[in-house]
Amino acid sequence: MFNLILFGPPGSGKGTQSENLIARYGFRHLSTGDLLRAEIANKTPLGLEAKSLMDQGQLVPDAVVIGMIDAAMKANPDVPGFLFDGFPRTVAQAEALDALLEQKGSSIGVVLALQVPENELISRMVNRAKTSGRSDDADEQVQRKRLDVYLRDTLPVAGYYSQFGKVVEIEGVGSIDEIFARLTAEIDRRK
Ligand code: ADP
Repeated sequence: MFNLILFGPPGSGKGTQSENLIARYGFRHLSTGDLLRAEIANKTPLGLEAKSLMDQGQLVPDAVVIGMIDAAMKANPDVPGFLFDGFPRTVAQAEALDALLEQKGSSIGVVLALQVPENELISRMVNRAKTSGRSDDADEQVQRKRLDVYLRDTLPVAGYYSQFGKVVEIEGVGSIDEIFARLTAEIDRRK
């Protein structure tokens, strides 16, 4: 089993590249953002709780997302590997993920960290808002908040995995194909 984390700030292209990586390698895609939006669409109690936090650019509580990931992993016992996208977003989530993988006798193979400058991130989110239908994309104040939360709570996750030598920085500016080629080169070297 080979598991990887696609890491990066909001708007860095994780969702787009995840789809391409799944098509190439057959990883099971686990995106907590997608899982949460499915809960909202189904109007579950969890979805209702998550929606207001997401619309403000804040994080959903660790216990909620860890529970979702645990369930999704148990529902997919025989996959060639998981691609985690938008998770872990806090060091507590990273520690919980490592424990879940350890139970399966597995671990994170690599953390691919997309590097995109802040002004580029904002303009991508503004653009995405025109087509995504995502309420958390529409407002510049919320975008700023998501970037602040990223810097404060999520960037330390890269520090956490760095201590195990697992983080590889990937230039996240360029065409989708160019960035995809940079990602696959790193995966192929390790798989
Ligand atoms: P993006 O692709 O822009 O980074 P996501 O789709 O991953 O956004 O997440 C959208 C929102 O869902 C986040 O702003 C946050 O409120 C919530 N969310 C997603 N994943 C997590 C997580 N692992 N922990 C806490 N909140 C999360």
